[in-house]
Amino acid sequence: MTMTKSGASSLLGMDREELAALTTEAGQPRYRARQIAEAVYRQRVESLAEISTLPLEFRERLERSGFTVGAARIEKKFVSGDGTVRYLMGLGDGQTVETVWMPEGDGGEAGDGSEAGAEAESSLSASGAEALLEESELIAALKRCATQNPVVQNAPAKKRARGVGRSTICISSQVGCAVDCQSCLTALLGAKRNLTAGEIVGQVCAVLKDQQVSPPQDRINLVFMGMGEPFLNYENFVKASLLLVECVGIAERRMTVSTAGIVPRIHDFGEETIRPKLAISLNASNDALRTRLMPLNKKWNLQMLIAAARDFPLRTREWITFEYVLLGSVNDEPENAKEVAELLRGLRCKVNLIALNPGPGIDFTTPSEARVAAFQKILRDAGIPAFVRRPRGRDIYAACGQLKRTVEGSTSASQPVQGISALPAS
Ligand code: SF4
Repeated sequence: MTMTKSGASSLLGMDREELAALTTEAGQPRYRARQIAEAVYRQRVESLAEISTLPLEFRERLERSGFTVGAARIEKKFVSGDGTVRYLMGLGDGQTVETVWMPEGDGGEAGDGSEAGAEAESSLSASGAEALLEESELIAALKRCATQNPVVQNAPAKKRARGVGRSTICISSQVGCAVDCQSCLTALLGAKRNLTAGEIVGQVCAVLKDQQVSPPQDRINLVFMGMGEPFLNYENFVKASLLLVECVGIAERRMTVSTAGIVPRIHDFGEETIRPKLAISLNASNDALRTRLMPLNKKWNLQMLIAAARDFPLRTREWITFEYVLLGSVNDEPENAKEVAELLRGLRCKVNLIALNPGPGIDFTTPSEARVAAFQKILRDAGIPAFVRRPRGRDIYAACGQLKRTVEGSTSASQPVQGISALPAS
């Protein structure tokens, strides 16, 4: 029995084809591959010993061949007064990344249960009847691809019936980031390395297990908006998306990937058959400002970025989200809002406005609510759906742009959930 074609020894991250090859090579019947997938992605076991559906002899051979489950390790857990949880996840090589759980959505993604999300969904999407149809189609598809889900079957009846209200998990795709956006704390770490597909999916499995929830019974949204630029780790990101849909059970339409604007990859992404929705960090209304705030704009300027967005093949009832971090007296003037409206005119899109989440080393200020509201009004008056995202978990450095593996004020993984003292909001 050898390693997989990608050289991985972790079962987490292997797709059905790789698991089938592994079991065939080991002289095992093909259904063993499905048993492994169910154990790793649905029961979310952490060791080979826990995969009780496999014969002991096969588990021992896997172990002797160097295979592990490869589950993410929750090293620390930081709990906000608003219920948001920031996880510090330990990786096999000692590196760490961050993953965020937002129990009532992230305040702006359509379908996340937030006011903004609901408003976006009702104004941009089709009828509730169609949404219900999609849900039932999803459940039918999941029944087809996974015959059993022990986690769901064993879940408490009360929790199964109730589900959780459209929670969102924000996951990382890289350790650190090379993109150097000036308003982002992650940028201060620099680029360390890409995450494997297994490490990306592992974050989701660890959080689902810790929160005792399971899609699709519990409505879970997923955003690739944590540490890193997913389109600079494209292949692993795409593979992780497939695994999340096919093996973990999260619907494509409940996942959103955010890019800082890696234009060639936006084109590639549009051709993927299974893909999350697209979000683009805009953050500026003209090239001079964007180059200052996001240096990658020198390589792919606004004209190229907006052209890629206009070319992007949107599915029925799909739109592109543009994120705009408002920085006091830098990019939040009425003139900036008018330029944004002009740039996006005619695009099937919405804009999420995010007042800067502050942090040490970030040299900008958070604009007042009045300025944010004025910016939003200009966009809306111009016919652009614009929503203000509530900051989530600012007090624990879990909000957008704050992920820097900060370790102050932690609540250890073994301790009960506690609020911690708040940082100043501006
Ligand atoms: S905003 Fe995203 S792309 Fe930009 S530096 Fe931060 S993590 Fe990287």
